[in-house]
Amino acid sequence: MNCLNDFSCSGIYYITQVMQAAYVEQVQRESFRRKIEQVEHFSGRGTMDIHLLLEEAKRMHSQMIAWRRDFHQYPELAYEEVRTSQKVYDHLQSLGLEVAKGVGKTGVVGLLRGKEPGPTFLLRADMDALPIPEAEKGISYGSKVEGKAHLCGHDAHTSILMAAAQILANRGLQKGNIKFMFQPAEEGGAGAKAMIDDGVLENPRVDAAAALHVSPAYDTGTLAVARGPGWAATNAINIRIIGQGGHAAAPHQTVDSIAVSAQVITALQQVASRQVNPLDAVVLTIGQMTGGYARNVIAPEVHLSGTVRTLNPALREQMPDKIEKIIKGVTDAFGAGYEFEFLDGYPVLVNDDRMVDLFAETSSIIAGSDRWQMISPGMGGEDFAFVAERVPSVMFRLGTRSGEETSYPLHHPSFNLDEDALPLGAAMLASIALNYLSKH
Ligand SMILES: [Zn+2]
Ligand SMILES: [Zn+2]
Repeated sequence: MNCLNDFSCSGIYYITQVMQAAYVEQVQRESFRRKIEQVEHFSGRGTMDIHLLLEEAKRMHSQMIAWRRDFHQYPELAYEEVRTSQKVYDHLQSLGLEVAKGVGKTGVVGLLRGKEPGPTFLLRADMDALPIPEAEKGISYGSKVEGKAHLCGHDAHTSILMAAAQILANRGLQKGNIKFMFQPAEEGGAGAKAMIDDGVLENPRVDAAAALHVSPAYDTGTLAVARGPGWAATNAINIRIIGQGGHAAAPHQTVDSIAVSAQVITALQQVASRQVNPLDAVVLTIGQMTGGYARNVIAPEVHLSGTVRTLNPALREQMPDKIEKIIKGVTDAFGAGYEFEFLDGYPVLVNDDRMVDLFAETSSIIAGSDRWQMISPGMGGEDFAFVAERVPSVMFRLGTRSGEETSYPLHHPSFNLDEDALPLGAAMLASIALNYLSKH
């Protein structure tokens, strides 16, 4: 294809596309505004008065802060969330829900049944912290556990869903069911998968689901969602480069595994930049490299470990082959051997189209039609993807930035969030569930 003569390659074409997208978004917002007016005309307490939910959530603000700060002081790592899950269990029981614990080892499930049968909507929060020491932030509720901290906001997620459960339980449900999934081990332990294996999506069978993640990339009071892929698929890779050790002064009698590894790492970057369609996102990072004994010894072997992130499931399938071909080619050329492992991680999290529409309509009612935005996917992984693989789902971002102190990225030792964002999170989860049940 010759780009010089092709309209689709030109800047004018691109600008036209952008204008079209802006127009479509404008029409969508108009349609949501009309729906809000309809909702506001509806009188009576039921599923259609969800615009009141933000006020109900705001009345729980101090309780939500107290829960979140308590979890923040006592962070627990993957599958060790014993204290946290007990607090969640006690709370759900006090609301009169049907509650089960020990689901997926340390997970908790609550069920709110409606008066009449209907579909079941699932809301999910994650409870685990990270094995990272928290930086000194000058806060009264800093982590009291050495080397562990809530630096991904899962303390807030748990608090938000506890509040949503309380709001919904207090209202009561006319039709259908709402299931509350408090999962362990989101940070690499596939806790959502463990809960699915233990039946969280059954009895009653879940029809659709929603979740949120706090985000320092967006201001407090705002929301963001990606249509289609929202979070990337993750895979871990381990590579062992096998050379032949010897004296540093006689490299010709050896196979230098460090020199070969350097070539392998450089060549691997060609996969992303030269072998994959530039419109297909892929990240290949070697995060760890170990090998060698001393400055004057040729290292007999080197271990490399890294992560591969993709958004396209077909490309994900091809990645092991593409990577191994390069390792094999380079090691062959230098007379070295290799071992290669491509380990399963989390699948791509795909937001269902109709569920994204439901999010857009609900957030227009709850936050305002100018307070949410459509965004591109991120390359982070998220194990809510296991739920989204099985039932139509949406996972959105809740803005938690209100200044420098709440601008650090997730997993940064100084990460913190603006607690003023908590009520909007609870109101959004509660109202998405009610909005879904009112339509099905
Ligand atoms: Zn995280
Ligand atoms: Zn997280």
